[in-house]
Amino acid sequence: ARKFFVGGNFKMNPATRAEKVKLVETLAAADLDPNVDVVIAPPALYVIPTAELLKAKGNSFVKVAAQNCYIKSSGAFTGETSPAQLADAEIPYVILGHSERRTLFHETSAFVAQKTKAAIDTGLSVILCIGETLAEREAGTTLAVVEEQLNAVVPLLSAEEWSKIVIAYEPVWAIGTGKVATAAQAQEVHAAIRNFLSKAVSPSVAENTRIIYGGSVSEKAAPELASQPDIDGFLVGGASLKPEFIAIVNVLR
Ligand code: 13P
Repeated sequence: ARKFFVGGNFKMNPATRAEKVKLVETLAAADLDPNVDVVIAPPALYVIPTAELLKAKGNSFVKVAAQNCYIKSSGAFTGETSPAQLADAEIPYVILGHSERRTLFHETSAFVAQKTKAAIDTGLSVILCIGETLAEREAGTTLAVVEEQLNAVVPLLSAEEWSKIVIAYEPVWAIGTGKVATAAQAQEVHAAIRNFLSKAVSPSVAENTRIIYGGSVSEKAAPELASQPDIDGFLVGGASLKPEFIAIVNVLR
């Protein structure tokens, strides 16, 4: 059985340290389902302070992720964070290939795959984001798009290394729009991704890899999505900044 996974992607929020502290303290004190992997991804500036605050609160349950990293360990790469630096800071996860990185910062599937490889080689776990735009969905190319995004990664990873990957299917049209995919729409793509993994990597990797859904996940939408056989959790954006996130983490109980 795949362990349910709920990530909170804060994106470039909140605007102040005080709000970040309040958010993390609320989560640290919350009664969270112990059968769920819970990971929060604050902005780079807050990654270490967030991990330290959780530790200070005695919370070793909520894990911290970075929202991005580079492909090199160190060097003259102004503005970047290295996977080795994250590992050294004991940050266990990194989100890679988010649609905002792909679109606004022009990251290609090949580059995202290189980052994924670099992060895995450094011992990090990766939340690998994939998903189609509305135009791609309407053109009937959803599966071709997600397969292209995954195909870039497949040759770079061994079967064992897939245990460190969580795939986040985030249809771009559902991100930040309030237009959550229906449970049937998400399930269809999740099943297709699993089928792809079975053929491209192995049946056991397909069976064991968590495939989580992201895009306007809310407390209201979570139960039906979570009941789908191939939806193994969520990557939550806007709602991860609200108390609602706790209800989403606890959706299965
Ligand atoms: P929203 O939940 O705000 O739609 O964002 C989803 C997302 O992009 C998580 O990575």
